[in-house]
Amino acid sequence: MTKMFKIALPDGSVREMPEGSTPADVAAAIGPGLAKAALAAKVDGEVRDIMRPFDGDSSLALITSRDEAEALELVRHDFAHILAEAVQNLFPGTQITFGPATEDGFYYDFAPAPARGPFTEEDLPVIEEEMRRIIGADKALIREVWTRDQVRDFFEKSGEAFKAEWVMELPAGETITMYRTGEGEAAWVDLCRGPHLASTGKLDSSAFKLTRVSGAYWRGDPKNPMLSRIYGTAWLNKKQLDAYLVRLEEAAKRDHRKIGQEMDLFHLQAEAHGSVFWHPNGFVIYRQLEAYMRRRIDEAGYQEIKTPQLMDARQWEKSGHWGKYRENMFVVPDEIPHAPEDGEDDDRPILSGDADLMALKPMNCPGHILVFKQGITSYKELPIRFYENGSCHRNEPHGALHGLMRVRQFTQDDAHIFCREDQVVEEARAFCELADRVYKDLGFAGYSVKLALRPDKRFGSDEDWDKAEDELREAVVAAGMATEEFGWEELPGEGAFYAPKLEWHLRDAIGRTWQVGTLQSDRVLPERLDATYVGEDGQKHRPMMFHRAIFGSYERFIGILIEHYAGKFPLWLAPVQAVVATIVSDADVYARQVASKLAAAGIRVVTDLRNEKINYKVREHSLAKVPLLLVVGKREADEGTVALRRLGSDEHQKMMSLEEAVVMIRNEAVPPDLV
Ligand SMILES: [Zn+2]
Ligand SMILES: [Zn+2]
Repeated sequence: MTKMFKIALPDGSVREMPEGSTPADVAAAIGPGLAKAALAAKVDGEVRDIMRPFDGDSSLALITSRDEAEALELVRHDFAHILAEAVQNLFPGTQITFGPATEDGFYYDFAPAPARGPFTEEDLPVIEEEMRRIIGADKALIREVWTRDQVRDFFEKSGEAFKAEWVMELPAGETITMYRTGEGEAAWVDLCRGPHLASTGKLDSSAFKLTRVSGAYWRGDPKNPMLSRIYGTAWLNKKQLDAYLVRLEEAAKRDHRKIGQEMDLFHLQAEAHGSVFWHPNGFVIYRQLEAYMRRRIDEAGYQEIKTPQLMDARQWEKSGHWGKYRENMFVVPDEIPHAPEDGEDDDRPILSGDADLMALKPMNCPGHILVFKQGITSYKELPIRFYENGSCHRNEPHGALHGLMRVRQFTQDDAHIFCREDQVVEEARAFCELADRVYKDLGFAGYSVKLALRPDKRFGSDEDWDKAEDELREAVVAAGMATEEFGWEELPGEGAFYAPKLEWHLRDAIGRTWQVGTLQSDRVLPERLDATYVGEDGQKHRPMMFHRAIFGSYERFIGILIEHYAGKFPLWLAPVQAVVATIVSDADVYARQVASKLAAAGIRVVTDLRNEKINYKVREHSLAKVPLLLVVGKREADEGTVALRRLGSDEHQKMMSLEEAVVMIRNEAVPPDLV
C-alpha cells in the first residue's frame, strides 16, 4: 500500500498525498491557476524546489510572484545559473566559480580562458542574447544529490579547478546537491544548494539586463587569481525592470558625490580614506543641522556632554568592545615619540612599542556611562539623558567606503538615556515623538518604524526578552505609531544579541529607504560597567539604558539629504540662500545695498556683479542650486525694487519692493522648529 503524507496548508486544511508527491502536485490538486503561478514551496519553513518530493508529513506554503521578496531571490539565482551557462556556451574554456543573487539582481564570477582575457562590457549584449535563448528553450532545472567525490571527479574531468577545490572543503557528510539545467548530454550542471524554479521558462526574458563587469578575487582574497565578474539586474517582469532602470538613472542624477562637487560641499581624498573634508558650503548645512538638533534635544530635556576620543584599551576590555570589536578599532600606543636632538645621530625607533594601548572610540556609550558614574545618582534625578555630537572612528576596509554614506570618521547625534524600570516605556514613547518631529521637519513625510526582535544567538533569558520586546512595542502603540501609516512591522531575528531595538527607515523622494534612527534598550552595559543609582529604598539599583540616534551620523544623513532634495535644499539649510545679480554695472552700488540689507536680516547672500549676460548668471546659479536669485538693473535701482526668481520655478520673476523681499525671505528662512 502506498504510504500517505499529511500536508498542512496555510488555511488550516490538511491534504493526504501519496509518498513521492511534490508541492507541484499539491498545487495542481488545488487548481490549474495555482499550479501555473506557483514558483517554489516553503516546506516546514524552508524554501524548496516545487518538484522536490516531500520527506514525510509537512507544512506547505506555495510561493508565487505575490511573495515578492522570496520570488525575486529565487528568480535572481536562476538568472545567475543561466548567465553562467550562456557564458560557457559562448566562450568555451571559461571556468565557473560562484554566482549569488544580490539586492537588485545577481552576478557570477568567471575565470576566463587565459587566451581570451577578462570579459568586457562589449560582451554583454551577446551574452544576454544567449540567456534569452536558454530561457526560451524552457529547460527543466533538476536537483540531484551527489557524493563529494562524484562532484570532484566530475569537475576535474570538465576542467573546473575552482569548483573541484571548493567541493572538497564542504564538510564530509553534508548533503551535496547539483543542479542540472536541461536533460541528457546537453545539460549544464552546477554545484548549488538551490532552490530553483522548475524550469528556465518560468523566468521573464524581458525582465533582466546585464549591467557591468568588474574584477574580483577568487574567494575575495587578493592572494588568489583575479576573476571576471558579470553583474545583472533581474526582476519578475519588464515593468519592474523598467521602473528600476528609471530609479537608477534618477539616483545617478542625485548622487551626493556628484552634487557635492557641483555645490562645492565637501571632498574626500586618499590621504584620509573615509574622512570628510567639509568645505564652507557643506559645513553650513552641517552647522544648521547641529544647531537644529541642539534646540530639539534641549527642549526634550537632554544635557549635552563631550567625552574623550582616546581611551585606554582596558576600558574597552571592560565594556566588551575589545573582544568583539577590535578589528574595527584604530589602536594607538600611549607613548611619547622619541625625537632626536638637532645633529644627534640616533637610530632608536621613534616608538618603542612597549607602551599601553589606547583606542579611538568606535562608539560613545562607555564614555557616557563613565560620566553617569561620577558621584551618586538618586532615583529622583532619573531619567538622565546625555547627548553628544560624538565623533567616532571605525576601521572599515577601503573598498567598503562610499562617499558620505560609508565613512571611517563620523559624528553621531548620539544620546544615552538612563532611567528607572518604571520610566522605560514613557522614555521610549517620548523618543518616538521626537524622532517623528525631526524627520518631518527635515522633509521626510514617509518613514516606517520597525521592531527588531531577538536573534537566535543571544544573551539573557526568554523572560527578559519578552519584557524588553513588550516595552518597545508598548511605547510605539502609546505613540500611536503601531499602524500601517507608519509602516509598523516586527522583524524576527534582527535584534542585537543583547537587546531588541526600534528602527526608523526613511523613504526618500525617489522611493528608496534608508535606515537612520534607532532606539535600543540595554541592560547589559550598565551591568558590565557597574552603573548604579540609589533607589527610594536607599539601596543600589541598576539603571536601564537606551542608546538612541535620530540622524545616525551627520555625514551619512547629509548624504541622504543631498540625494533626497537633489541638492535643492529648503531655504533654511541652503548653503547660499540668495544671490543678488546685476544686469548692468550701473546697478552695482544698489546690488551691494540689497545684499547688505539681506545679510543684516541673517540671510546667507552673495553678489554677482560680473560683466556677464543675465541668462548666463541665472544658469550658473541654478546649477549651483541657489534657491533665490534677486535680479537688479537700472530700473530696480531707481525704484528700490528687486526681481525675484526662484530655483526650479516656471513662474516668471516677481517684482517687489526691497523691504517686502527682505521680510519675505527672512520669514521663509526660519528653521522649521522656530516657525
Ligand atoms: Zn545556484
Ligand atoms: Zn550607545
